[in-house]
Amino acid sequence: MIRSAIFFLALNLLLACSQAGETEKTEETVAIETPSTSRAKYAIVIHGGAGTILKENMTPEKEEEYTTALNNALDIGEGVLKKGGSSLDAVQKAIIFLENSPLFNAGKGAVFTHEGKNELDASIMDGATRNAGAVGGVTTVKNPILAARAVMEHSRHVLLTGKGAEQFAQEQGLEIVEPQYFFTENRWESLQRAKAAESKETGFLYADPAHKYGTVGCVALDKKGNIAAGTSTGGMTNKRYNRFGDVPVIGAGTYASNATCGVSCTGHGEYFIRYAVAYDISALMEYKGLNLEDATNYVIHEKLKEAGGSGGLIAIDRMGNVAMPFNSAGMYRGYAKPGERVVRIYGEE
Ligand code: ASP
Repeated sequence: MIRSAIFFLALNLLLACSQAGETEKTEETVAIETPSTSRAKYAIVIHGGAGTILKENMTPEKEEEYTTALNNALDIGEGVLKKGGSSLDAVQKAIIFLENSPLFNAGKGAVFTHEGKNELDASIMDGATRNAGAVGGVTTVKNPILAARAVMEHSRHVLLTGKGAEQFAQEQGLEIVEPQYFFTENRWESLQRAKAAESKETGFLYADPAHKYGTVGCVALDKKGNIAAGTSTGGMTNKRYNRFGDVPVIGAGTYASNATCGVSCTGHGEYFIRYAVAYDISALMEYKGLNLEDATNYVIHEKLKEAGGSGGLIAIDRMGNVAMPFNSAGMYRGYAKPGERVVRIYGEE
């Protein structure tokens, strides 16, 4: 009796919350692109980071470069899924492509730490087994997502960091590069801007004032119904003291469960850790019965926004529904399903 009364109250509260959310929603907050009740054969969604990405600051050439890179990453991931390959392979391959592109803050093109180094974080999770792997603060591994996958598949651990993670990657036969490989002029200038702004402010400034992110992530659902998610980043410009953000933290930046969904986040990592964002989406679906759209909109547009945490995420549920909400100005993003392809950069166009 008491239990059903509590349940009734909770249900009403939930309804009231989601209705309140709806009245505030602008068109930009509509996250579900393709609501579906029968399972899509496969689906893949990617992001290339969220942040102050505004059309007025973009040249048509740059826009074209980003759009092409996002489409190429989708082609690679979709190619794997179409042939019946696994969601893990699709995620890994799409992310490797984005890591190798200097356009994004992951692998080549990673942002610089305060000391002028590139320290890379990555993670991957298999929704079928809930096995996961991650690396934090690696400086010599060409493709950190491969190191994350090796941790998942060839170690007893979930997260390896620093020198130990590098040694493990080398032992696994992964490609090791000189730290200089990750240098790009753009990111170096970002660090200088962040440092210059910092000295004018009172204290430490934890990002380029131009404030572009660029982390990459991918979530996929394969033909067998398995979901996988992965994320890779250089973290935040001017980071210090071997800081990690949410990306190598399973449940914060990355999460996958076949029972609910897969999620990859991007944004101000400290908030995503504190609010366990990726897992929170899954938990809202599992325990409260929310659908992907409501769960992702609630966390990004209400919970995180109220807390002051800027960023976004990509997600796929077990039916192949896709969500790509963000509360920043823009987010490089796109998805593909049989017969469908979308690539976007800014708020609703
Ligand atoms: N979430 C990443 C971090 O805090 C940064 C980003 O997504 O741009 O390290």
